[in-house]
Amino acid sequence: MSQPNIVLVIMDTVRAKNLPMYGYQRNTMPFLNKISKKSILYENAYSNAPWTIPSHATLFTGKNQSEHYVIGIEDKLRTETLAEKMKRMGYHTFGVSNNPLITALTGFDKGFDKFYSIIEQKNELLSEDETLIKKIFQLRTYEKSFIKRVFKLFVFSVRRKKVKEFIKILLSRIASRIRNTSFHDKGANKTNKIIEKEIKTLKQPFFIFINYLEAHSPYDAPKRIKKMFNAPQDRVEIVEFMRENHTKDLELINNAYDAGLYYLDTKLKELYYIFKKNNLLKNTIFIFTSDHGEFLGEHGYFGHELDLYPEVIKIPLIIKFPNNKHTHIKKEVSLKDVYFMILNNFKLSQKNIFIEYYGLDTFTTKIPLSLRYRGIKKDILKETSQYMAATIENGVELILREDGEEIVYVNNGTASTEEISILRQRLLKEVGKIKLKRTHYFNRKRLINKLRGIKHGKNRNLR
Ligand SMILES: [Zn+2]
Repeated sequence: MSQPNIVLVIMDTVRAKNLPMYGYQRNTMPFLNKISKKSILYENAYSNAPWTIPSHATLFTGKNQSEHYVIGIEDKLRTETLAEKMKRMGYHTFGVSNNPLITALTGFDKGFDKFYSIIEQKNELLSEDETLIKKIFQLRTYEKSFIKRVFKLFVFSVRRKKVKEFIKILLSRIASRIRNTSFHDKGANKTNKIIEKEIKTLKQPFFIFINYLEAHSPYDAPKRIKKMFNAPQDRVEIVEFMRENHTKDLELINNAYDAGLYYLDTKLKELYYIFKKNNLLKNTIFIFTSDHGEFLGEHGYFGHELDLYPEVIKIPLIIKFPNNKHTHIKKEVSLKDVYFMILNNFKLSQKNIFIEYYGLDTFTTKIPLSLRYRGIKKDILKETSQYMAATIENGVELILREDGEEIVYVNNGTASTEEISILRQRLLKEVGKIKLKRTHYFNRKRLINKLRGIKHGKNRNLR
């Protein structure tokens, strides 16, 4: 086969745990399930970060977070990207992103001949401050009332002397809220229409990157799908459940998330048939994966970021080749491996998994933590505002945290002291290699010394 076309599909926020090919009892994604039986299914795939920006940055560069430094919304992807490499290899590169964090603002359009960002007001040129205020609106804020949130943002804007921008964006948010009362998707419809149109003139071989946001909160789906999954009629904003005793709602939240997956699946099917219709299946490789998972109440968490437990880092990875070769790969892989696989003819080299999280306070340094996360429990805020690193092998995950806690997560059975010790040494070696240029994110010395000085008796075993 001469250079095959490659379609890289990021199903944003899709965790492996709720998918039928990963053992879930519900058929949440029937189309993908069918495809997975004609594909290489990676049973143990992980993202290298628990949220969008650093995770995509690793996928796009093959580097750890501590090497690419794209760990917050103020960072910009500067090193050579996958798309740029593909271009040098003779590929025609094309990207569509529905995630407002994966745009030209963060440099993720680098290397694409054409890159569409499907976000509101996409034709509007925003100044840096407007962008910032707009992003605050989009942030997950744990303040329950919209009015209260708006008031806080108003105060923030007055301090920054950006009241005009604030009003402009507020009005557009209200308009979109009114529009949003009935279901409309988060861009998948538009994305597929763009692909359908562009595919006709796109030269081969092509590399297409797509980020679909349908599984991301607020969880939503068309009425008939919600009914199928017993999901609540209103869309579910998980952030509202963070503070309260919400155990009774767990099932409903899970149902709402499942309904979103099912809707996304219908859009994947639609996408696949666009390629089929254009007679492209015989020389196109499809990669279906995600940038991170999602907490649906596990460990007291909802949403993503926050921590490195399996729920938020275990993702699907399904690679479909034109010859429909089907196998299951048990060996642990990460998005970093996907980068190298795409560039090296899909050969998998054995690499250790290294996952990092720089904490909630590094998402952005411009917006005060107190503004973003007012209302969130203090202990949760403290726990999630630290650096942590993790590695996984043979079903054993070890998480080391800056506060000295060590967490062992065992898939099945137990982990021996020796196994844990090997993982620990490996992690400390990786952490020891970190050379941070941007020290404002955290005190590197403190971090490394703390991780080195961990008292190993202080671990939690989770099953
Ligand atoms: Zn994401």
